[in-house]
Amino acid sequence: MQTINIASLGFPRIGRQRELKFALEQYWRQEITPAALHEVASTLRQTHWQWQADAGVSLLPVGDFAYYDQVLTLSATINAIPARHRDGDKVDLDTLFRVARGRAPTGAASSASQMKKYFNSNYHYIVPELSQNQTFSIAYEQLFDEVEQAKALGHQVKPVLLGPLSYLYLAKCEGQAFDKLSLLPQLIEVYQAILARFKAQGVTWVQLDEPILALELTPEWQALFAATYASLSRAQVKLLLASYYGSVAHHHELIANLAVAGIHLDLVSAPEQLSLFASSLQPEQILSLGVINGRNVWAAELDKIAADIAPVVADLGKQIWLAPSCSLLHSPVDLDVETELDTALRQQLSFAKQKLNELSQLRTLLIEPDSEAARATAERCRARREARQQAANLQVNERVAGLTTGDFERQSGFAQRQVLQQQRLRLPLLPTTTIGSFPQTPAIRGLRSRWRKGELTEAAYIAQLQGVTRDTIQRQLKLGIDVLVHGEAERNDMVEYFGEQLDGVGFTQFGWVQSYGSRCVKPPLIYGDVSRPKPMTLDWATYAQSLTDNPVKGMLTGPVTILHWSFAREDISREVIANQLALAIRDEVVDLQNAGIKIIQIDEPAFREGLPLKQSQWQTYLDWAVNAFKLSAAGVKDDTQIHTHMCYSEFNATIASIAAMDADVITIETSRSNMELLNAFEDFDYPNEIGPGVYDIHSPNIPSVEQMVALIDKAATKIPVRQLWVNPDCGLKTRTWDEVEPALQNMVTATQELRRRL
Ligand code: GLN
Ligand code: ZN
Repeated sequence: MQTINIASLGFPRIGRQRELKFALEQYWRQEITPAALHEVASTLRQTHWQWQADAGVSLLPVGDFAYYDQVLTLSATINAIPARHRDGDKVDLDTLFRVARGRAPTGAASSASQMKKYFNSNYHYIVPELSQNQTFSIAYEQLFDEVEQAKALGHQVKPVLLGPLSYLYLAKCEGQAFDKLSLLPQLIEVYQAILARFKAQGVTWVQLDEPILALELTPEWQALFAATYASLSRAQVKLLLASYYGSVAHHHELIANLAVAGIHLDLVSAPEQLSLFASSLQPEQILSLGVINGRNVWAAELDKIAADIAPVVADLGKQIWLAPSCSLLHSPVDLDVETELDTALRQQLSFAKQKLNELSQLRTLLIEPDSEAARATAERCRARREARQQAANLQVNERVAGLTTGDFERQSGFAQRQVLQQQRLRLPLLPTTTIGSFPQTPAIRGLRSRWRKGELTEAAYIAQLQGVTRDTIQRQLKLGIDVLVHGEAERNDMVEYFGEQLDGVGFTQFGWVQSYGSRCVKPPLIYGDVSRPKPMTLDWATYAQSLTDNPVKGMLTGPVTILHWSFAREDISREVIANQLALAIRDEVVDLQNAGIKIIQIDEPAFREGLPLKQSQWQTYLDWAVNAFKLSAAGVKDDTQIHTHMCYSEFNATIASIAAMDADVITIETSRSNMELLNAFEDFDYPNEIGPGVYDIHSPNIPSVEQMVALIDKAATKIPVRQLWVNPDCGLKTRTWDEVEPALQNMVTATQELRRRL
């Protein structure tokens, strides 16, 4: 059999030591010249192309590199720059940074373009802003320059662009609202011009990403594909239409009939699409099989994948490409730089660079199944599975398997709990509280880092942090806040802190993934069955409570959020992982209660993020996510008050599930919406207590007493005042005490004023 092509949809650009991040930040601080920044970028591209070429990728992606965000690069390329960031006709790198970071050409602050999560990933793109009289033209040369760079290095390339329909879908109107679709004909023209430029550069294939195909599109949007791609196909370059993050089977007919030279499918998130699309493939058309997960860190089950796709490969022969499921942007760069990983964990892992090698191993399994190399690959896969099975924690598995409906429910309904909690807590009307963290000063960060480096003994570290906690409690008492928090000074990150203390969860040194711009995250790895070897927060909570008679909230991160913000194993369902995490948190909740903590907050800021791309699948997710939260919370007595916190806005479609979580109190982010977001709770007759945020913690501005009085007043028109709490939108760790203290003072004063009046 002939060989099979290996394709890459894109490689992480940040660099295995985050070289791009550091260069960008130096550039922004004006510590390096534009030429120096370009040099770092150019070296990174060269290295990444070489790695991909070495792994056998035949057409190297161009356009996956971006100084800030690939959607923003495209906006610049087609001259879609908001008026407030424009400097005449000039579009250059600094234009990009002005859009992304909020600067006018004069250097004055000017609001940045909005940033949004790219579909269901943790990557954030810069939302294009299109004006009603928008005109498109090629205004920025980066993509074409990069094609030249790759060619000069002797590579064959495949430029990668977001397709015109997904681009338009993600864009928003600059200024007054208008029908975005009116811009499509022009947008197609500028894409044609781009394709013509590529063609002139000797490019034969261009990849156009249309991730919106994984959504449930309206007939209006579906209808646009055929004509759009018919127009683009006239450009005489071969088009690879790529979708990812979910099944596109519901748009099968539409896709199968498009005038494109190739189709890429994400077969990791939806393997069942394969036979459907294989059977409708046009003669000569390429089917790119996205079989290696581009969004996770685990070594692939190559033997199983080979078995699954072998019949199609035999059938379609050279029409098949092997590829990662999506761009490797969401995966850490290189496992080889990890020097401190446990060997058992390391053998389960594969980062971007290793994933490309997996593709070539898969190819060997397919075309030379009897070779020595193929046998060795299959053996490694078997050994990995066996190691996982042996590492299973039977106790955890039995505990999850033995769960009964009773484990998910509080002893009594909310009405009864509320009475008991009121008797015990004796809180005033409109109780005041905060969300958990207080300013993480350089001094606090310094303490943590010295302790980690071993420069500070454990005892000294704890003593110092106790000092910080004592100070935090005293400040809250002085402000007159009713329900206190210990301040989370010991936590670097709300997921990492718990991950580090749980069994079955591991960490890398360099497993960074770009979140936006120069920002990266290093998610924990949930590799095994999760359990809690010992209490995680008890000492801090009880220490803080020992300092005051006011209730101090125990502060935990919820199971759903820990799951979403980690790289989770794939050999068991996310529901089961969430329940394992929930049981670990539940044990902590019960320990806190037994140590005298009367209020426990279980934060779930990532709850909404887990929603599937297709609305028809939301309920399944919501059901198990709600259950996991309830499991974590339900171990306590009726008079222990459970809080949860979510910092986002759109509750309309999920309000029934939020109510089903049955937290005694929920605190949410609402201040910027002027309490409009409470409408969902009002319409639903949300039964439990709510703390709508009255202080926008994302802004350095100090809200006035009058502003907060107005917000609470507004809230009281929607929610019975007996159900309301008063609090900021979110934690205060990114703010300074200079901002926080006057703001909270005003919050307390506003509350007192309302208590007198209501
Ligand atoms: N308790 C956390 C804090 O205050 C909650 C953070 C969050 O919602 N993202 O920092
Ligand atoms: Zn929050």
